[in-house]
Amino acid sequence: MTLIKELKQSNNKYIAKISMLKIQDEKGNTLMHIIAEKGYHNFLKLILGYLYTCSSKNLENIKHDIKKILNIKNNESYTVLHTATIHNHKSFIKILFDHGYISKDNAEDAILVALEFTNYPANNAVKLLQEYIEKQYNSNDILEEIVQSTIVNQGNDLTEEDNNINHVANNGRTPCTVEGCKKDFVKRESLSQHIKIVHKGERTPCTVEGCKKNFYSRGNLYRHIKSVHNVIYFN
Ligand SMILES: [Zn+2]
Ligand SMILES: [Zn+2]
Repeated sequence: MTLIKELKQSNNKYIAKISMLKIQDEKGNTLMHIIAEKGYHNFLKLILGYLYTCSSKNLENIKHDIKKILNIKNNESYTVLHTATIHNHKSFIKILFDHGYISKDNAEDAILVALEFTNYPANNAVKLLQEYIEKQYNSNDILEEIVQSTIVNQGNDLTEEDNNINHVANNGRTPCTVEGCKKDFVKRESLSQHIKIVHKGERTPCTVEGCKKNFYSRGNLYRHIKSVHNVIYFN
């Protein structure tokens, strides 16, 4: 709790508070991780309130700074959202959602990690996150999800770069850094995914006991678990 003390004692300047919130302890946790683990949602509200009011910056810039803080990963690669979900703190997650701090990718990964951590079934925080993801989906995402889960059910696992190769014009792309490979990509994430899959052969196994499937991306694993094992709602 020394971080909390330090935050209170720091001067009122916005920059000082932001840099204080980026400090990580020996486990890689920020103050936000610590209050997420304890489920101190009122303290989260207080911190957000401080930050929104103690700067002349516009709200979008402040939110950008806060997003960066919330995306800091501890030594176990957990963000604040992962920590709150694992420890089943719904009120904490609700505040993050109401302020627009939950992205689909981060939410999906937090669900997977929480399911592994508690070894199934889903806790209430996971169910809440699942609702938020569905609320935020637009119709394209839903369509994509149906396509993806069909592919998963057939035992194939279409990757993001396949989509890019087929549908995006060849300009301004990032070439693969591996010698002799001629592939290139629109998004940097697609390149790192390509290197992991094609050049290193990495896949993520399903975390449900007895299931032998494995996947190229966490997103595909999430959709598989949701559509094939139904653990999120029905266990
Ligand atoms: Zn390559
Ligand atoms: Zn499975």
